Amino acid sequence: MSEAVSHPTAPSGSTGASQSTAARHGAAYGEGAVIVCDNLVRIFKIADLEAVALQGLDLLVEPAEMIAIIGASGSGKSTLLNILGGLDVPTAGKVTVAGNDLTRMGRRDRTRYRRNVVGMIWQQTSRNLLPYLTAVENVELPMILDGRSDRRKRALELLELVGLGARATFRPSHLSGGEQQRVAIAVALANEPAVVLADEPTGELDSTTSSEIFEVLRRVNRELGATVVVVTHDAFVTEHVERTVAIRDGRTASVTFRRTEQSEDGDHRIVAEEFAVLDRAGRLQLPRGHIDALELRDRVRLRLEDDHVSVFPYLTRKVDEGEPEPVGAGNGTDEP
Ligand code: ADP
Ligand code: MG
Repeated sequence: MSEAVSHPTAPSGSTGASQSTAARHGAAYGEGAVIVCDNLVRIFKIADLEAVALQGLDLLVEPAEMIAIIGASGSGKSTLLNILGGLDVPTAGKVTVAGNDLTRMGRRDRTRYRRNVVGMIWQQTSRNLLPYLTAVENVELPMILDGRSDRRKRALELLELVGLGARATFRPSHLSGGEQQRVAIAVALANEPAVVLADEPTGELDSTTSSEIFEVLRRVNRELGATVVVVTHDAFVTEHVERTVAIRDGRTASVTFRRTEQSEDGDHRIVAEEFAVLDRAGRLQLPRGHIDALELRDRVRLRLEDDHVSVFPYLTRKVDEGEPEPVGAGNGTDEP
């Protein structure tokens, strides 16, 4: 069934290796990556007010990778996805997807890009599917717009892939929320996109159904080799992807890597490790919990130790009252 579905970006097995070699040799930023966001800024202006939705966001996604993006409401996730989908343009910064420079695309190229390079899945099923078309007709629609000939066959294969072959002739109103999202995934795949973007595709689903949808996206990623970026509120998405990027205030704040480890007695266990993101300018975001716990504000003292950097709260010196010197006293960035 699914093997019959052709895809241009099926993993060759060599892309990952060549990228890590490039990284080791200090190649240009983003070389080999399918998604490159370089210092992305998006400012929305409404009357006199400015909302900075993205403030210098960096993100690289490798070919055939599947990542999750998490973050509180208003952190800039949809803004990022709309830019990657070619629906919006950044105020500043660079963004390329599968070799397409999204900041300099004309109207015609943009239409072609949205039809052939990316596939999008939204939270609202009503935005994904036309209510008066059956599941298979919905999947065929993007292929009609693209002038493909093998539409019906391919649409049925895609519905098989997402586990909905038996419901091909159903209209959306006769499908459950989870089933509608499966159809939406098939629609997104219709024209063999290099990249699949999903903005909270499980936002209206219960946790069991959500888990199934993540698994379908996982299958799409593995079997077709499509790069998948899924934005979600579900913290448990981490279980389904190797890399989860957390966005805070329009920047990538942390990244969680998940891997399977084999213990000495042969058991496999999943290990998830979270890292703060250090950008190329040396900036990093401290987690809100750390900031609150030590009441960090305005400035901190840094001290370079043998194998780590310490961050100390800046305490006002009250010499007259004989208060002890602040912890980590010295200039802001003393070295040992
Ligand atoms: P998320 O998807 O993470 O909830 P968004 O990307 O939708 O966040 O929004 C990020 C910020 O940008 C928010 O403060 C939001 O109010 C603002 N924003 C998003 N889209 C617009 C818009 N079209 N006009 C004005 N402000 C916007
Ligand atoms: Mg959103």
